[in-house]
Amino acid sequence: MFPLTRLLSLARPINHFHFRMASAAATGSRRLEGKVAVVTASTEGIGYAIAKRLGEEGAHVVISSRKQANVDKALKSLKEANLSVSGLVCHVGKESDRAKLIEMAVKENGGLDILVSNAAANPFFGKILDCDDKSWDKIFEINVKSAFLLVKESVPHMVSRGGGSVVLVSSIAGYMPFELLGPYSVSKTALLGLTKALTPQLTEMNIRVNCVAPGLIKTNFSAALFATEESTKLALSQIPMKRAGTPDEIAGIVSFLASDDASYITGENMLVAGGSPSKL
Ligand code: NAP
Repeated sequence: MFPLTRLLSLARPINHFHFRMASAAATGSRRLEGKVAVVTASTEGIGYAIAKRLGEEGAHVVISSRKQANVDKALKSLKEANLSVSGLVCHVGKESDRAKLIEMAVKENGGLDILVSNAAANPFFGKILDCDDKSWDKIFEINVKSAFLLVKESVPHMVSRGGGSVVLVSSIAGYMPFELLGPYSVSKTALLGLTKALTPQLTEMNIRVNCVAPGLIKTNFSAALFATEESTKLALSQIPMKRAGTPDEIAGIVSFLASDDASYITGENMLVAGGSPSKL
């Protein structure tokens, strides 16, 4: 017979366990040495964690977001961590900003190897049929079209380096639409398709393209879900691990996909969501 104490310990809710996260510092990995990376929307949250991780693994990282003050603050803390970074303002919806971003990476560092398209907008919250066409257009302009254009604009520079790696940031909402975030969810589903659609042509150019779909991650973007004890409980109830993820837990996967450790992985959509159910 199984001892009762053993049974009780197995029944303990999983959120009572401490979780352990790898970090570049812990693993000592420098697998991105010599690479040049561009990460959009990287002054906070998931994008910032990705930029930091790519830098820790040896890449030079060009960070960006819409506000100069945010760029300056992020650059300061990344430089204090002794990482090789530069940065500028880039609103991904603006063609001239995107051009400056790519130009900075290539001019300052001689090329571009890694693109992480992480920016997203969500100007609408409510039932999908109440979404007006302006909000719909904005969501698709930023979340899908800008991602596509950034890839298109980066590709020639990757080709002149002999290849590269692209990572798009989607969402669990792309698999299981959130009822009050319908248009945003559809835009994230489009990124799963964009990854597949880009794969054959990018493969011809020795460029891999993959997509990471985070589950619930604690950032400003998701802060509303943690506003009250009740909303927190509801949000976590859908997640088998019974906790939100951290930006660092997304960054490690992006860094892996960007690196040669993932040299036989392309066209994949990877969920990082604590076991949250997903089905398209
Ligand atoms: P966040 O913490 O709110 O950070 C957003 C970052 O994006 C900031 O650096 C912001 O800086 C920048 N930004 C916003 N709009 C931009 C634009 N148009 N062009 C360039 N930069 C822009 O957000 P997050 O949670 O890290 O989200 C990052 C990505 O993960 C998004 O694609 C989101 O859809 C996805 N995601 C998040 C979660 C989650 O639970 N948090 C789950 C699934 C997927 P400025 O204000 O200076 O522009």
